[in-house]
Amino acid sequence: MQRKFANIIIDISHEKVDRPFQYKVPENLKGQISVGMQVLIPFGKGNRQRTGYVLELTDKAEYDIDRLKEIAGIAVDRVSAESQLIQLAWWIKERYGSTMNQALKTVLPVKQVVKAQEKKSIRCLIGEQELAEAIETAHRKHYQARERLLRALQESPVIPYEVIRGQMNLAPATWKPLVEQGIIAYESQEVFRDPVGALNIELGKLQLNESQNTIVEDFCHSYDQGIRNTSLIYGITGSGKTEVYMEMISHVLEAGRQVIVLIPEIALTYQTVMRFYKRFGQRVSIINSKLSPGERYDQFERARQGDIDIMIGPRSALFTPFQNLGLIIIDEEHEGAYKSEGVPRYHARDVAVKRAEMNHASVVLGSATPSLEAYTKALRGTYKLYELKERAKKQSHLAHVQIADLREELKAGNKTIFSRILQEKLEERLAKGEQTMLFLNRRGYSNFVSCRSCGEAIKCPHCDVTLTLHRDGRLVCHYCGHTIPMPKACPSCGSKYIANFGVGTQKIEAMVQKMYPQARVLRMDLDTTSKKGGHEEILSAFAQGDADILIGTQMIVKGHDFPNVTLVGVIAADISLYSPDYRCGERTFQLLTQAAGRAGRDQIPGDVIIQTYKPDHYSITCAADQDYESFYRQEMAYRKLLHYPPVTQLLTIQFASKDEDYLTRCVDYAFRQIQGMEEATEVQLIGPAEASIYKIHDIYRKILYIKNENYDILIQIQNKLEQIMQGTDWCSAIQIQYDFT
Ligand code: ADP
Ligand code: ZN
Ligand code: ZN
Repeated sequence: MQRKFANIIIDISHEKVDRPFQYKVPENLKGQISVGMQVLIPFGKGNRQRTGYVLELTDKAEYDIDRLKEIAGIAVDRVSAESQLIQLAWWIKERYGSTMNQALKTVLPVKQVVKAQEKKSIRCLIGEQELAEAIETAHRKHYQARERLLRALQESPVIPYEVIRGQMNLAPATWKPLVEQGIIAYESQEVFRDPVGALNIELGKLQLNESQNTIVEDFCHSYDQGIRNTSLIYGITGSGKTEVYMEMISHVLEAGRQVIVLIPEIALTYQTVMRFYKRFGQRVSIINSKLSPGERYDQFERARQGDIDIMIGPRSALFTPFQNLGLIIIDEEHEGAYKSEGVPRYHARDVAVKRAEMNHASVVLGSATPSLEAYTKALRGTYKLYELKERAKKQSHLAHVQIADLREELKAGNKTIFSRILQEKLEERLAKGEQTMLFLNRRGYSNFVSCRSCGEAIKCPHCDVTLTLHRDGRLVCHYCGHTIPMPKACPSCGSKYIANFGVGTQKIEAMVQKMYPQARVLRMDLDTTSKKGGHEEILSAFAQGDADILIGTQMIVKGHDFPNVTLVGVIAADISLYSPDYRCGERTFQLLTQAAGRAGRDQIPGDVIIQTYKPDHYSITCAADQDYESFYRQEMAYRKLLHYPPVTQLLTIQFASKDEDYLTRCVDYAFRQIQGMEEATEVQLIGPAEASIYKIHDIYRKILYIKNENYDILIQIQNKLEQIMQGTDWCSAIQIQYDFT
């Protein structure tokens, strides 16, 4: 880039990126300076030489040119993690249409003035016998959180502090009394690094089976030859993907390089993180949303300084400032959580591939139900495809899946929400003392109120979504919180015949309790988990066998291993097919497959009952047959027919404003502008349309869709439109968001 000016920042941090300094690029350095590079610059009154990072190169002077100083030179080339992250931010900005500031704030952690902390852990000081007694005491006194901690210490005598705070969600009030009683100790790393430290032995190492071994050997062989690529492990649930990742990690660590492991937050459970700790000990760190910004910053600093080699976490762990990154693993690659909701709307999978390319690292994706995007790339050879077709544990079998047609149930006079077959199986489990999970693939708001005379559902006046009926009789909007009492008559036609249709988790719980009063039931959904620690309390209570039935939404089917669960019932499998999104078939298939994977994880074979009004839909039949390939073929045919990704590339432009007329005018204007571009002849331009939820918090939203096989054309259009809109005063008050899929 032969640019004239460079925007440079000296102290690169999230907080300072808004205030770069502009410098002239001298003739002799033109073309040599690139974004992310460290350069030497005269700074301040005395022009002391300092080092800064180039954030942006431009031809636009932001100050008086004569007063701009010149870059003095290029800093001695030190490969710095910051440089790499700045380059990555630049790529994100270009690829997803955001500003450089937004992109930089995404990749840089929030700096906190914290005292550098050491790695801390909690260690059990008492023997087995005493520990059992302490658990008994905690249990008798109903100290649930304390009991949970003590039980965890039974399995692993040392637990890292991040896990105590994060996955276990325990407050100091829980463990401080135990320290005072001498039951546990709170330790820092020095103590912890002693050679007999419980976690430094490779406890978790298993003998890999043949299929696992083939993958690991192939990966290691390529890695040693300096080949870096992206591979996809398509392996059914329980096929041993995690063990494969750990072997790969070992290999990359031996080569002196670092590893990032992405796991969606919802699947980042205690069981999972402890597997990594047991295997890699103190070289591992974990981040998650429960850590404070200071604690997160601390973890990132430790990574930068080389104190740890493995970072595990959700999407944002991708930006861990390792100096010598060698591998990025993305587990459950298909998860929606890898796509950022905010600006820039980046996808972790694509950013990972980019970061790996910049760092000469490899990427390994894994899933039992790969995204259509990833599997398509694997079939085309862009990604290397590995498969694991069998469960790793010999005795463990795939569950037996049956579909129950709810239309037939009604015909047969069964008015309950449980099919006869599900009732029969459930009773069997209750009699045998085995556990059941009842899964509703939707949040509470399926519990809406509608009118039998005119058919209208009662909606939120601000958000255009149906209100949810809560058990206390109020109607609540799950987007903005608007609440009204249950009306006595239909707001549209005045009829008295309004009632609650649809099913929510609360209703399922009430039904179960009515039909099986003896059953012990736990419910896990947004309502029951919103209180602190709710999530962990419920899961651990269920794992300990405190309940026969766990009822819940998506949260219960991701990442949890309950060996005593032998029955999974999906209440209404087709609910997730009704959302206005072209990916709903894919999501339904993934959810059902995951739910089915929860039954019979151990010796006892499992049953899965999928109840549905659409027993012939391929998302449902393929999930029941656990047949990914067949699902993939049919879903791709649908995407081809309707020109949806991954067959084509899609740019969604969302316009938002409080003023509806103004919004309409602005969207129409943008539409005509795009039509007038030369690129427009090649693309499919659709819209303007109202967003699926037109109004949220009194803000209206409209959408334009642009489709084309060629991603670059979409980027060109986006860049041009952005410039046009920035230069158009009357549109500047409209919020515009670009989203590439
Ligand atoms: P996935 O990540 O594919 O769901 P996991 O790695 O969690 O699978 O493995 C599922 C179960 O099988 C775990 O309990 C794990 O300990 C066990 N397992 C994995 N590999 C082996 C192996 N080679 N031998 C015995 N058990 C294994
Ligand atoms: Zn009505
Ligand atoms: Zn609302």
